[in-house]
Amino acid sequence: MPDLDPRFDELLRRLGEISDLQRAVGLLVWDQETKMPPLGAPARAEQLTTLARLGHDRATAPELGSLLEELREFEESSEPESFEASVVRVARRDYEKRRRVPSELRAEMTRAGSLGYGAWLEAREAADYEILLPHLEHRLALTQEYVACHEPFDDPYDPLLDDHERGMLTSDVAATFARLKEVLVPLVAGIEEPVDDSCLHGDFAPERQREFSLEMLSRWGMDDQAWRLDDTVHPFALSLSESDIRLTTRFDDDNLNGILSCLHEFGHGIYERQVDGRYFRTPLQEGTSSSFHESQSRLWENVVGRRLSTWSFFYPRLQEAFPHQLAGVALDEFHRALNRVAPGAIRVDADEVTYSLHIVLRFELEREMLSGAVTPADLPEAFDAKIREYLGVQPANVVEGVLQDVHWSDSNFGYFPTYALGNVISVQLWERATSELGDLDSEFERGEFGTLREWLREHVHRWGSVFEPADLLQRVVGGSLDAEPYLAYLRAKVEALAPR
Ligand code: ZN
Repeated sequence: MPDLDPRFDELLRRLGEISDLQRAVGLLVWDQETKMPPLGAPARAEQLTTLARLGHDRATAPELGSLLEELREFEESSEPESFEASVVRVARRDYEKRRRVPSELRAEMTRAGSLGYGAWLEAREAADYEILLPHLEHRLALTQEYVACHEPFDDPYDPLLDDHERGMLTSDVAATFARLKEVLVPLVAGIEEPVDDSCLHGDFAPERQREFSLEMLSRWGMDDQAWRLDDTVHPFALSLSESDIRLTTRFDDDNLNGILSCLHEFGHGIYERQVDGRYFRTPLQEGTSSSFHESQSRLWENVVGRRLSTWSFFYPRLQEAFPHQLAGVALDEFHRALNRVAPGAIRVDADEVTYSLHIVLRFELEREMLSGAVTPADLPEAFDAKIREYLGVQPANVVEGVLQDVHWSDSNFGYFPTYALGNVISVQLWERATSELGDLDSEFERGEFGTLREWLREHVHRWGSVFEPADLLQRVVGGSLDAEPYLAYLRAKVEALAPR
């Protein structure tokens, strides 16, 4: 029996240590973003660097490599989705990819990234792109060096994309994005008059928003034995194990965006919460890719969280929480406001219909920078030109233009596309779920969300990282990445919002 092999136990012990170090990094980051007093920053940077180095040393140790080589037979002998075969396969892949990059290059990338982040904050403060420019040039050169470590490949963008989407090819993303552009650019240009969403703005006490969000999320499946919700500046979700899920959000006192951000982070949290507990402390323990993760957050935030049936249950409760603000606002009016479509320059404020175009243009610019077709010096102009072409808006200044995202301050290329791919996958999964489960709206109207949650557990969540994203998608929906369901969903949304 392979699972009695002491070498496999030794592998689990080593992988468990690597996982513990990674989770400890996660906890320090969570604390830094939610609790730490500002003067803790310099010491925290040292602590994070030490833990990250220990983790990297263990993850690239030659002893781990020889162990994985000895256990290669596991990948062939047992069922491909068995625990043993999956652990060995995913661990070996991670190991081989990490070993390609010299540790000096990795350290320099980390250092340049953190200096770049400081320069980005400064550049935003001064509204001066020149402050960031030399950092971006240096970091881009390092990214090109990093890419070269992974030769051969079909496209220099492939290794960067693969860091977030195991096995996905740039050509597939480019084809999907070309289709999004073809449909969405004219769809957005045709929107004449955005709906009035003034009911979402006003005076909304953060404490009440928090209480309401917790009530909503507990209906969806959050409980205080395994979850927390804390305040932060830039919301995120993180898990320390499948039974320790940390969500963060930001409640502003003049709008309700914080509630929607809770719904988004819940989607990330429930994915980690429902991974098979047996995968804990192995490389299988997390969601399989960034876009699959994002498909879960978008599904709960947008497909479920902006749905009329969902709010026909929750809206009376929201009105109770904010009687002065919402008593005179009908459910239909509130629902239309939640689904407002209006092009703007800022990605994080974008609605569902325009959002993916913000991503498409960033993907195109990343590829052009990598190939040298666009230099960092050209970037502000190239960015504005694309946003004018795709969304018909001109950013007021560099802060609202090229300096709006943190992702390029440390050249984290390859990550942006996963946001739009998550949108596409979310609707593919929703279509499959409702074709199997039937209409879920009557359950949502009664405040019941367990049928959908359990379906996602069974088909997506429990598998953790056992399957590569494309294989998981194939298993669940019986096909590959397909933009059409998502585009049909958006067309229907725009139609329903047309002036009446
Ligand atoms: Zn997300």
